[in-house]
Amino acid sequence: MPHMRRTAVRGGRRGFRTALMVSVARERMENLVRMAAAADRSGESARSRRYVGLARKIGMRYNVRMSPELRGQFCSACNTYLRYGVNTRSRLRAGRRVVTCVQCGQVTRLPFSQDRGEVLTGPSDLPGEPEPALAEEGLEEEDFADEEAE
Ligand SMILES: [Zn+2]
Repeated sequence: MPHMRRTAVRGGRRGFRTALMVSVARERMENLVRMAAAADRSGESARSRRYVGLARKIGMRYNVRMSPELRGQFCSACNTYLRYGVNTRSRLRAGRRVVTCVQCGQVTRLPFSQDRGEVLTGPSDLPGEPEPALAEEGLEEEDFADEEAE
């Protein structure tokens, strides 16, 4: 990605962000996470982590929160793109989906939609990403007391 010129991007009064800046930031973050997914699929995990890092940086710079769908796609500690059931362990517990990153051991708790009966996060919205079968992920109650003590 080319270096961003601040003057060209900042449209609002100093210290303010315009609706355009927010929507552009959101779009960029989505694109970067999509690129991270593609890089991860082609085995370029370092590049994938860099894209995730850039996406997070944009969110911080423009003070735009990532949607839970987006945030659930990578590890918050090591920026690894998470492929559910491949480099994660996930368990359902007390209305939450507890996802452990196999790369670094980071434990993330994600909200679990009870209304829709499906997980809010995950790679299922991405084109070309196969729908993870719940049965294969080993979703079951498990005590995570050890990890929670960290
Ligand atoms: Zn991790």
